[in-house]
Amino acid sequence: TYPNYGRIDGAIVMIGFGSIGQGTLPLIERHFDFDADKAVIIEPNDANAERIAAKGYARETEALTPENYQTVLGRHLTPGSGFVVNLSVDTSSLDLMRFCRAQGVPYIDTVVEPWAGFYFDTDENAARTNYALRQAVRDEKAANPGGTTAVSCCGANPGMVSWFVKAALLKLADDVGTEADPQDRDEWAALMQSLGVKGVHIAERDTQVRHEPRQPGHFVNTWSVEGFIAEGFQPAELGWGSWEPWFPPNAHRQETGCKAAIWLEQPGANTRVRTWCPTPGPQFGFLVTHNEAVSIADYYTVGEGDHPDFRPTVHYAYHPCDDAVLSLHEMFGSNQVQDVHHILDVNEIVDGIDELGVLLFGHAKNALWYGSRLSNEETKDLAPDQNATGLQVTSAVLAGMVWALENPEAGIVETDEMDHARCLQVQTPYLGPVEGHYTDWTPLTDRQSLFPEELVEDEPWAFANVLER
Ligand code: NAD
Repeated sequence: TYPNYGRIDGAIVMIGFGSIGQGTLPLIERHFDFDADKAVIIEPNDANAERIAAKGYARETEALTPENYQTVLGRHLTPGSGFVVNLSVDTSSLDLMRFCRAQGVPYIDTVVEPWAGFYFDTDENAARTNYALRQAVRDEKAANPGGTTAVSCCGANPGMVSWFVKAALLKLADDVGTEADPQDRDEWAALMQSLGVKGVHIAERDTQVRHEPRQPGHFVNTWSVEGFIAEGFQPAELGWGSWEPWFPPNAHRQETGCKAAIWLEQPGANTRVRTWCPTPGPQFGFLVTHNEAVSIADYYTVGEGDHPDFRPTVHYAYHPCDDAVLSLHEMFGSNQVQDVHHILDVNEIVDGIDELGVLLFGHAKNALWYGSRLSNEETKDLAPDQNATGLQVTSAVLAGMVWALENPEAGIVETDEMDHARCLQVQTPYLGPVEGHYTDWTPLTDRQSLFPEELVEDEPWAFANVLER
């Protein structure tokens, strides 16, 4: 028996039925009571039509656009009821959440997604940052505080990892003998600062693999290929620590908004950083831009203005599955995006785990990795229609929906602003082993000595030592 988290009256409208939508639906069916005859899935891609029909739900075939989204959603939503679950690409999270909140309909997404065109139709890189996307949502929150809950960026990362940062801080505090019971943002930020945490890597190693080798000209990944390519071509971007002794020569600061992040004049998926995960130990990850790099750096800032007292350095360090690494290598080398896109299916994967956690570094115990080490095999026992990567995302969507129903008038929130304990309580049964691992590794450990490098020897965790130049 699975916990029942209550009833959703009115229409559940799911936007997008790709890898994440297909994995989320069975969790909604399992954990909520709702009116199946009112539920609708907006999915323009006919390839997914049979799956939707097999489930017995209505399908809306029109792709949402800036021109039609109000009409299409308006056909299905009844003000003050239902739930909009946005798991699509090429739809504006900001416009959709605005519309839902105006109708009193709760809303959730897993990324601040823009309308089609944002990622590639301008050569102005500052405009293509996640900072710009996130800031627009923060500005909307500031202009229209409170009201119907809209949960922004509630997947695995962004999403779950923000809850892991809090769990890891409490573990670290406990392990070094500091009493901690933070109640609000200021107290959480003060706790991170007082523990001496200099920064956070979202440190991920995906080892899921199938038998068949990747064919040239195929982009293979464990989640949206389209989504990964789009974010991979955005500029590398990171929350910028107040303590960093070196500034990358091709980096830009932000002029407006919270100013918690900087961006580099290079694509994130072609930017390597040194990090650490329990299975491989030290490894390269890609510094792909992600909302959480900005939101976590912002949330844990102590002080105001251009020179805050404390801010952690925060960024993604992503080693996707080996087939995706080869796909990226081929794509950047040829300057051609592959024609064939393939998401590894739970049943073709023969081995591997998605090890996704947060690496809190720079403190008295050096570094603590805290996260989920979910295998594809275990995923098959836990939930249908998804691989391990998918389940880490969809179970966060479930947790976010539960939290939204329990907090219906919370306004626009990011996962940093939600009750991490409640969310992890809902999500953890789906995460496989959730573990904390300390390491004495730093980016200077076993560093090659055959070629001169400009390192910052007295600050091992400096971004200068993390970024492969
Ligand atoms: P996917 O590519 O498998 O599916 C996306 C779906 O959106 C497709 O079925 C597509 O037909 C549909 N779609 C495209 N344009 C649309 C439009 N205009 N209107 C309605 N639907 C449209 O992607 P996925 O792996 O399911 O990922 C879905 C979303 O979740 C993406 O935005 C992705 O970035 C995000 N995501 C977040 C996390 C996280 O941890 N936060 C992880 C994975 C994916």
